[in-house]
Amino acid sequence: SWYVLPPESAARFTAVLTITSLFAYITMHQIYTLHASLKEQATKDPLTGLLNRSLLKTHLQQAIAQNKRSEIPVSLISIDIDHFKSINDSLGHEQGDVVLEKISALFKARIRESDSAYRVGGEEFLICLHNADEKNAFEFANDLRQQVEQYSFFPDRNVTISIGLTPFKEGMNLSSWLKFCDEKLYRAKEEGRNRVIV
Ligand code: GH3
Ligand code: MG
Ligand code: MG
Repeated sequence: SWYVLPPESAARFTAVLTITSLFAYITMHQIYTLHASLKEQATKDPLTGLLNRSLLKTHLQQAIAQNKRSEIPVSLISIDIDHFKSINDSLGHEQGDVVLEKISALFKARIRESDSAYRVGGEEFLICLHNADEKNAFEFANDLRQQVEQYSFFPDRNVTISIGLTPFKEGMNLSSWLKFCDEKLYRAKEEGRNRVIV
């Protein structure tokens, strides 16, 4: 515009263009921030900061597809806090919430960046362990179980977790993988809790 217009018009044109660009930038920035915050709210559990169920199936389908393509092992662990109702009943719902937060923080601290941890129910969690075969996943799950058992939540009582573990195997699909994992968790409960069943 400075080449073809009189200087006064070119100056006006430049000013208008600059202001328009600035407003466009501010608006886009606001939309981006809002989008990120809505996405966080939609995919994360507000109490624990773990992922909620919304992306679970998509993520697990991706993990299965990757396993089929690359044969890199992937394992799923299903975790349930033992006798959690009695923690709520004897110490109050707020202390129950504190246990959920602290246990989730332990999970987050222990998993790798490529792994994903979900709160799938009140006191139930799933962790997808990438590049972990049965042996690796068992070591991880058992370490986690011990860590929770040894953690001082309260001066006079321990908190324990039961874990079901299923490495993804040929012939499984998403629903059978989840089902097998739940069955193992159920067995861990039946066999006395505070244990990992593969
Ligand atoms: P089990 O060892 O068989 O798993 O026994 P449990 O007591 O852990 O299992 P049950 O399913 O009987 O109880 C789960 C309890 O979890 C009941 C419910 O009040 C509590 N709960 C669910 N969501 C929350 C939550 O967000 N905060 C708190 N504090 N408690 C919750
Ligand atoms: Mg439960
Ligand atoms: Mg429970």
